[in-house]
Amino acid sequence: MSLLVKPCSFCGRPVAKGSGTMLAKNDGSVLWFCSAKCKKNFLELKRDPRKLKWTEKYVKGGIRRK
Ligand SMILES: [Zn+2]
Repeated sequence: MSLLVKPCSFCGRPVAKGSGTMLAKNDGSVLWFCSAKCKKNFLELKRDPRKLKWTEKYVKGGIRRK
């Protein structure tokens, strides 16, 4: 376990500092992306990582709605 690792803001996988992409938003929060794929899915495609099987945030069976 290293302190230099952050979870990817999209897929949830660990991102080593120095690799991946850091994005500082206007509201002051900081996002980390392990790859351009995650960044694109988050920023351009605005996908929900819980619906994508390749992320660690994927919810099996889909997200329940009321
Ligand atoms: Zn990722």
